[in-house]
Amino acid sequence: MVKTVNTVDLKDKRVIMRVDFNVPMKDGVVQDDTRIRAAIPTIKYILAQGAKSLTLMSHLGDPAKDSEKAKAKALKDGKSFNLTSYIKGKHRMAPVAAHLQKKLGKAANVVFAGEDGCYNKKNFIDSQKPGTVIMLENTRFHKEETAKNAKDLDKLAKALAEYGDIFVNDAFGTAHRDHASTASIAKFVPVSVAGFLMEKEIKYLEPIVTNPVKPLVAIIGGAKVSSKIAVLESLLKNASALVIGGAMAYTFLKAQGKKTGKSLVEDDQIDTARKILEAAKKAGAEIVLPLDHVGAEKFDAAAKPVKVASVNIPDRLIGMDVGPKTIARYRQVISKAKTIVWNGPVGVFEFNAFAKGTEVVAKLVAAATAKGCITVVGGGDSVAAVNKFGLASKMSHVSTGGGASLELLEGRKLPGIEVTRGRDYFIAGNWKMHKTRKEAADLANALVKSLKTGKHKYLVAPTFTALETVGGILKGSNILLGAQNCAAEEQGAHTGEVSALQLKDLGVNVIILGHSERRHVYKESDALINKKVKLALSHGFEVILCIGETLEEREKGKVEAVCKSQTEKGLKSVSPEALSNVTIAYEPVWAIGTGKTATPDDAQAVHKFVRAVIKKLYGSLAAKRIVIQYGGSVNPGNAAQLMAMEDIDGALVGGASLKPELFTPIAKFS
Ligand code: PEP
Repeated sequence: MVKTVNTVDLKDKRVIMRVDFNVPMKDGVVQDDTRIRAAIPTIKYILAQGAKSLTLMSHLGDPAKDSEKAKAKALKDGKSFNLTSYIKGKHRMAPVAAHLQKKLGKAANVVFAGEDGCYNKKNFIDSQKPGTVIMLENTRFHKEETAKNAKDLDKLAKALAEYGDIFVNDAFGTAHRDHASTASIAKFVPVSVAGFLMEKEIKYLEPIVTNPVKPLVAIIGGAKVSSKIAVLESLLKNASALVIGGAMAYTFLKAQGKKTGKSLVEDDQIDTARKILEAAKKAGAEIVLPLDHVGAEKFDAAAKPVKVASVNIPDRLIGMDVGPKTIARYRQVISKAKTIVWNGPVGVFEFNAFAKGTEVVAKLVAAATAKGCITVVGGGDSVAAVNKFGLASKMSHVSTGGGASLELLEGRKLPGIEVTRGRDYFIAGNWKMHKTRKEAADLANALVKSLKTGKHKYLVAPTFTALETVGGILKGSNILLGAQNCAAEEQGAHTGEVSALQLKDLGVNVIILGHSERRHVYKESDALINKKVKLALSHGFEVILCIGETLEEREKGKVEAVCKSQTEKGLKSVSPEALSNVTIAYEPVWAIGTGKTATPDDAQAVHKFVRAVIKKLYGSLAAKRIVIQYGGSVNPGNAAQLMAMEDIDGALVGGASLKPELFTPIAKFS
């Protein structure tokens, strides 16, 4: 969970805030101030809380790269090029500071800290009156900002960290960049939190990948399949339908053996398109491709639109937009959605004659919003489209970040967000072989109510027979649905087993694997557990991998050896990317269901050791991020003490998860 600016005391504190004021500039004049306006609520809040100083930093274009390009172009066009005036008009932050002053009016005085850069500004900042907003020069004038090595990044980060007791990151548009001012700075400032814009972006975008209100319909358009592969694969995990539009649809149609005329097709991506079609089938997601088209003989705004009533496009035509049959299909698909994510136009909407498909999509998504559907628009072109049709305010959320929103939808961890996360406690209830459907429903209903205001990540794992019932109750709540096991095979003659696909079909989010009862009662080996872990991860599930020693092993001093071996073997061949979907539950077998709990210190020692094992396997960042739960007779009386330990990030609860009056205080421990 990210920590937001309103969770910390700002009174008399010096705040250093990263904003994304990378706005289009022409001759020193701001052309579109959307991003400046988007940061104002956080700026005003910080000032209203009585911060001692507020220093803003941002990049604005890339002076080095942009000027190189502009110079080459000028030379090619036979024009003269003046570097100083080019940079002044495009990359200097002073005019942006002046624009911010206009927007803030009397709310604050904005001062620019000088063209000499971001170093050595402490005295300047300290000499300002409280309530002043200080704008630093463009961070990208310093090559350390975007350096590829920690030493250079840290040099600038340390200098910037001097200006604040608290780092606020509100630059969602730059959150995917691992730069000095977006991420490294957090290493040197005592407290790092997210601003309100960042919080809003995460609130809307993250659940699409982790736990959307279903059915989820994803509309993905744009020119290139190659730039959207990862997002398509990620969305497939939760979407009931993937609408593929824009030029990338022609690559998919060609992969299906359809004629695409002179349309833009990425021949080197046809195999990828086939694989995505295959994966969609496996995931049970419908792929919606154009059924008819509007074509043109040339790619030109003035080109004459030609109706193509069938899916096949004649040789002389380029596909430019979708036709009426496709639009009718879009209407049906969109009307069923409870969540819609839209990234990329479905036609060449910039040319009025070919804008109809995209306009109708924008209207359908807006109408869905009005009926209570959660709608999220991200990516430069689809944002431009909703703006063009005047529908931006009719969407639940229009993202301010192109690359950042795409990477978040790909399920990636963004450096600028990660540094603002507090500890992500994850409290899970394992209901084992308890409860009829009716009893499970009663418990689920009670927990949906009692945990509504809970601040952590929650999961309940009922028996297989109650999954559907409980899944229905949890829909739209903050509690994930878990399964207690999963077959190691995809399908086939495995009497008594339940497959990953069947669990997906039931809406399961997380699978508990390697529980001590599976290991010791049902004799599951590390190799079998590893097979299940990889299978579950490949289907997009989160996995809780349980490890832990028996009493005999503890008495023989083998705790570390057992935990190391079970962790290493359980995670064998699990990629670093897939690891972000793994939680480890340390469950000493002698403590499970016995009423005996490891002391917080003993549990902490093992958790610390397991984290070190992960560090060896996957590096320090992965070790810092992995969630390690403790399990073994956790109850309302010991939960808070256990969670207070440095390396304990949550709990896997058995017996005490069966009653709302026991699980609720554990889940809401403070
Ligand atoms: C468990 O089943 O994973 C567990 C920890 O059980 P209990 O909390 O009852 O010890």
